[in-house]
Amino acid sequence: MDWLTFEEAREWANKQEDIRTAEDWFEWDTPKDIPRNPQLVYGDKWKGWHDWLGKEKKVWMPFDEAREWAIASGIVSMRAWYEAKANGDMPENIPRNPHRVYGDEWVNWYDWLGQEVPKSLDELYPDVAKEWHPTKNEGRTADDVKPKSGRKVWWLCSNPKCGAEWSARVTGRTGGSGCPYCSKRKRTV
Ligand SMILES: [Zn+2]
Repeated sequence: MDWLTFEEAREWANKQEDIRTAEDWFEWDTPKDIPRNPQLVYGDKWKGWHDWLGKEKKVWMPFDEAREWAIASGIVSMRAWYEAKANGDMPENIPRNPHRVYGDEWVNWYDWLGQEVPKSLDELYPDVAKEWHPTKNEGRTADDVKPKSGRKVWWLCSNPKCGAEWSARVTGRTGGSGCPYCSKRKRTV
């Protein structure tokens, strides 16, 4: 792999508004021709993270303060958030990607924007909910369970070539597990 020259790579790094600290750097995806560990690659040219990421960048607003601003802003969705940032409608020291910047303090976009969290599996995970078994769940529907429920229920695979039935915990499904028969088939192909 041929890396960009130090100057080219630093220019890219300098331009990334949301990358302000070394910690940010390692959380972000970087172009293939820029090393993940520039401090090890560029030898004598390396002058530290401050230089690499841009001297003029300020520190981020603290989480609580930024979240307060977010709630008061009236922005109601992640998409509207990105638009507002792109239009310059927010303080410069509030990040475009708060979920990446605030790490442990970050909960989710609903919390960030002061929105009510949709309650049922049906509202939050429509793709999972559509595989809710229509007849084997004792009259219960996907509207009746919370996405993090540990309850084991029946599912009906939505792949028309499969149509398998299986039972699994709701929380497993919302955590990303799918039809065991389809995933087995994928693995053996
Ligand atoms: Zn299947």
